[in-house]
Amino acid sequence: MIEKNVSLKPYNTFGLSAQAKLMARVVDVPSLQSVLSDASLVNEERFILGGGSNILLTKDVDALVIKNEIDGIALVEETSDSFFVKSGAGVVWHNLVLHCIEKGYAGIENLSLIPGNVGAAPMQNIGAYGVELKDVFSSLEAVDIASGKIHHFDSNACEFGYRESVFKRKLRGEFVITAVTLRLDKTPKLNTTYGAIEQELERLNISSPTLETVSQAVINIRQSKLPNPKVLGNSGSFFKNPVVETAKYEELKKKSANIPGYPAGDKTKLAAGWLIEQCGWKGKVVGNTGSHAQQALVLVNYGNATGVEIFELSEQIMYSVYNTFGVQLEKEVNVY
Ligand code: FAD
Ligand code: NAP
Repeated sequence: MIEKNVSLKPYNTFGLSAQAKLMARVVDVPSLQSVLSDASLVNEERFILGGGSNILLTKDVDALVIKNEIDGIALVEETSDSFFVKSGAGVVWHNLVLHCIEKGYAGIENLSLIPGNVGAAPMQNIGAYGVELKDVFSSLEAVDIASGKIHHFDSNACEFGYRESVFKRKLRGEFVITAVTLRLDKTPKLNTTYGAIEQELERLNISSPTLETVSQAVINIRQSKLPNPKVLGNSGSFFKNPVVETAKYEELKKKSANIPGYPAGDKTKLAAGWLIEQCGWKGKVVGNTGSHAQQALVLVNYGNATGVEIFELSEQIMYSVYNTFGVQLEKEVNVY
């Protein structure tokens, strides 16, 4: 069934008001293919929606919104050291994480509590606490919007990078991801050295961490630092951490000795939140929006913001970071 004039406010974590001209909820590949081939809809622009946690809506969506609700998690293969787990694109990412932890499938515990759906995870190669989707990725299935045909992508074909993939760049808007298969470990290789995980485990009095306790530590840290979108609209980190030439980092260090920098191949990754904070934006309220007091990288909607207001604030922040450090920030959020 095609719905008309649907409010997207409940479907984006910024809580922005915008209307979709048309919306189709798809629950499996045939229902998606039938929407894509419907003669009455072929001239409509398509907009693929997952959990709406990485989009900034600056206007009404004059398109057919395809809301991906393809469900289901299954163990599809087992080898001596791995479990291959296939998930429908409409599964809530954190539910997949909890399912895997319960079954003892290791590798995505550090990615606990990332909002959104499984189908969007490859889009920006989601990452947190030293783990990225690509580390556990096996393959995905996607339907070509133009032909309705199913394609299979392995890791190489996805061209994963830092919060990047081929679906965010070259193939943007061309495919609907319908299922993702992960290769998870039978023997956990826990990664607790990133961020505050070790301190949190210590606080919880845990000396022998497990999948469950690492996940719980990540959940606790996230809940203590990040605004809950149900309470304060946001889309997580608005900007990517910039990766710069190491010579540029050395030059910046001469002016700001404490500037954080992390090796990224032969380049250096800077912390965008630190740069924004140094420019005086952290906790600053601008009209109905602002940079969050505990995490400068997160722009928030104080209730009545428009997408345009948030977009304009993001541009001001980018301008001041560039003026101060000569570093160009790039938006991580998908702006419509
Ligand atoms: P949406 O916002 O619905 O869509 C995002 C983009 O993907 C859009 O361009 C959309 O068209 C496209 N898309 C969605 N589904 C499909 C599909 N099936 N096929 C093709 N294209 C599709 N991200 C991280 O990487 N790490 C984090 O730690 C993290 N923390 C966050 C914390 C908070 C509080 C919030 C609000 C966000 C955070 N994010 C994080 C960002 C966000 O959760 C991820 O990018 C997530 O993968 C987005 O999923 P979604 O289903 O909400 O995507
Ligand atoms: P944090 O621990 O305060 O660290 C600040 C930044 O420094 C992070 O962005 C992180 O980069 C980088 N960093 C910290 N320790 C590092 C290390 N050992 N090696 C390499 N880089 C390191 O960050 P936070 O804001 O609380 O977030 C914690 C984790 O959750 C991070 O991985 C972050 O990416 C993720 N997160 C992502 C979003 C999003 O929307 N994308 C939102 C919230 C949290 P990385 O970001 O590259 O890890």
